[in-house]
Amino acid sequence: MENKKEMRNWLNEFNLTHPFVIAGPCSAETEEQVLKIAHALKDSDVSVFRAGIWKPRTRPGGFEGVGEIGLKWLKKAKAETGLLMGTEVATAAHCKLALEADIDVLWVGARTTANPFAVQEIADTLKGTDKIVLIKNPVNPDMALWLGGVERLYAAGIKKLGVIHRGFSTYEKTKYRNIPEWQIPIELQNKFPDLPLLIDPSHITGNRDMILEVTQQALDLNYDGMIIETHNDPDNAWSDAAQQVTPDALKQIFKDLKIRKVSGDTPDFDNKMTKLRANIDVLDANLLDLLGKRMKVADEIGQVKKENNVAVLQNNRWNEIQAKMIAEGAKKGLTEEFIVRLFKDIHQESIGHQEKILNKL
Ligand code: PEP
Ligand code: MN
Repeated sequence: MENKKEMRNWLNEFNLTHPFVIAGPCSAETEEQVLKIAHALKDSDVSVFRAGIWKPRTRPGGFEGVGEIGLKWLKKAKAETGLLMGTEVATAAHCKLALEADIDVLWVGARTTANPFAVQEIADTLKGTDKIVLIKNPVNPDMALWLGGVERLYAAGIKKLGVIHRGFSTYEKTKYRNIPEWQIPIELQNKFPDLPLLIDPSHITGNRDMILEVTQQALDLNYDGMIIETHNDPDNAWSDAAQQVTPDALKQIFKDLKIRKVSGDTPDFDNKMTKLRANIDVLDANLLDLLGKRMKVADEIGQVKKENNVAVLQNNRWNEIQAKMIAEGAKKGLTEEFIVRLFKDIHQESIGHQEKILNKL
């Protein structure tokens, strides 16, 4: 991972004036479907056509992909449209077949990244290839596992490497199919600024209505590109129906996305500022998250006070908190004035929450 410059060269070869785009169906279903979608994406910002032909399904019984025959369809789509072709590989056999079929982009899926033996097998089979190899984050929010995947591929002499952020699974029900945990890809980006980072809003959201919003967030965080599941008849797709968009909807997304213009004095300045601001955005989001959680605890305290008929304001407790925070804050370079102001506001909000609970009928 010493010479990270090499990593970015492959993206520069595309000479694009917009983010790098991969699009196409979750799964190749029929030859006709593949060709139809590829033709619809031909004259657009899409550089690579994607279609899964080997589909790792969480539970048996789902559509597991058309298999090897799909490679023929991709070859035909490439010949007819000129688009580069990409597919997911999970085993050495998949890699061999994909290389034989001259597939341009091979990606390692989230379930595979979580398995170091499988990643090593893929790395060994792709040794020294000049194909583009992308590695998705593992299903669990484990930065080291993702990093380990990148390192295994890099050590195999694969130079055209990139990463795909597709979100992380969680037991909690959220508005996302896989929660983004933006701080993880941003940490990776900080470690390897020259490693292209793509967003996969389809698998993060699981919902076509949220694709634009999440892609915009990613571009605001300086991502290099996106991979978006696109299908001619999304509702009847054989896999991941709810999250796929039509080619027309995808083109509308391209129009609606605000691509950040380069500003400032030098590219170096811009680059640094963008990364630092991305950091600030993540930290601010974390701050809000923590404050929200703190207020929930305040609500619970309000409930206990109500049950025991105790007054909201406990001056001793408050003085104790303030003194502790001033001392802790000083260690982190925060002024006493700021700490007093900040905690006064937090305390005020907390009292407001408790009042509400105590006075609720
Ligand atoms: C896919 O891209 O269709 C896919 C299976 O994604 P993931 O590995 O992110 O679940
Ligand atoms: Mn999918």
